[in-house]
Amino acid sequence: MHNGNYDVIVVGAGFAGLACAQAIARAGKRVCVIDRKRDLGERLHTTGILVQEAMADPLLVNLPARFRHPVPAVRLYAPGLESIELTAPGYRFHTTDTPALMRWLGEQAVRADVDLRLACAFREARATAEGWHLPGVGSCRYLVGADGARSKVAAYFGLGRVRDFLYGVEHEYDGAGLQRPDALHCFVSRRWAPGYIGWIAQTPRGVQAGLARRLRQGGEPPPDLAAFLAHVAPVVGLSPDRKPDSVRAGLIPCGGPVHPRMRHNVLLAGDAAGVVSPVTAGGIHSGLRHGADVGHALVRALDSGIGPQASAIRAIPAWRRKRALRWAFDHLQWDWPFDLLLKSPPLRRMAEQIYFHRRGQTSSAA
Ligand SMILES: Cc1cc2nc3c(=O)[nH]c(=O)nc-3n(C[C@H](O)[C@H](O)[C@H](O)COP(=O)(O)OP(=O)(O)OC[C@H]3O[C@@H](n4cnc5c(N)ncnc54)[C@H](O)[C@@H]3O)c2cc1C
Repeated sequence: MHNGNYDVIVVGAGFAGLACAQAIARAGKRVCVIDRKRDLGERLHTTGILVQEAMADPLLVNLPARFRHPVPAVRLYAPGLESIELTAPGYRFHTTDTPALMRWLGEQAVRADVDLRLACAFREARATAEGWHLPGVGSCRYLVGADGARSKVAAYFGLGRVRDFLYGVEHEYDGAGLQRPDALHCFVSRRWAPGYIGWIAQTPRGVQAGLARRLRQGGEPPPDLAAFLAHVAPVVGLSPDRKPDSVRAGLIPCGGPVHPRMRHNVLLAGDAAGVVSPVTAGGIHSGLRHGADVGHALVRALDSGIGPQASAIRAIPAWRRKRALRWAFDHLQWDWPFDLLLKSPPLRRMAEQIYFHRRGQTSSAA
């Protein structure tokens, strides 16, 4: 399409990479995205739950309604399975048909004149007078690593690496239904999910149930999703004996942004840059925003001829309070305070802040 000569090559066609590439293509620059997958809907590492703000993102604003399911409430369960309901006026999460969402995002990118090359993995790059040459792909002025939490681009170019992780596992049950499809069911339990939570949600395809835990030494056992589901599935009306139709698993950065994120005309975006909330582990919306910000900074650099400055990219939140909460969750998590205090106003307010960023409806009935 562009004879292998690009302004920018992006490695990784996830949320961050596609947002970055579209920002560049829409400014009329030549951009290629490579991804090692053959199909963007395969081998997913995400639940795909979108926060309300993400629905206003330029990439998602036209997302067909059939690919998403609005979820207005959070049902928060203490370890003993007592629960409270959290809502915020007008606020909704959106679960998604994630494989369809990723394929649709890929199609949108191609429509925006992004050269999308699948089954094409990043392995090496050679320096040229202008920038970089990727064998089998082409040459570019700037290279973006949007290749996820275990970024090969970050390792290859000596950029900052993600060192703090959660590990998540998830089952999908096609065609299944929950008693409360309008709620995101979240389970706090040090036993099943040390450092994070378990979750069950209705999606347009069926039901997703997952569990994530903190990895601290690296040798911890994976989350025991089968045992967790045997414990909680009946509470939400899901059969504990049902076999999953698909399984997803992956690492989630939880230590905040990496340093450096830019060197020798190579930049990191999304999970590769550690742009994931350390508490909620939500990285889709922040990845979309960060990818687009990196794209806009590169367009300015290409137009001005002056290399991108870190200061030209909108600041990534430092997440100081969330990192403090992450520390507390890592070191001070016990089950009994949640059982004891679940229905207390301070715990409810804290949960509302985490889920709804202070837009919670504190008067809602427990
Ligand atoms: C189990 C799990 C559940 C999650 N659930 C949610 C959720 O519900 N909501 C939310 O907001 N966040 C969630 N997250 C976090 C969120 O999924 C990530 O933050 C987000 O996907 C990051 O997007 P990204 O584009 O930076 O990276 P990714 O989505 O990881 O995309 C990276 C892309 O790079 C490609 N790639 C990797 N290496 C190479 C290579 N060498 N060459 C070419 N291509 C390569 C991969 O194939 C992939 O397509 C979850 C994470 C996990 C693991």
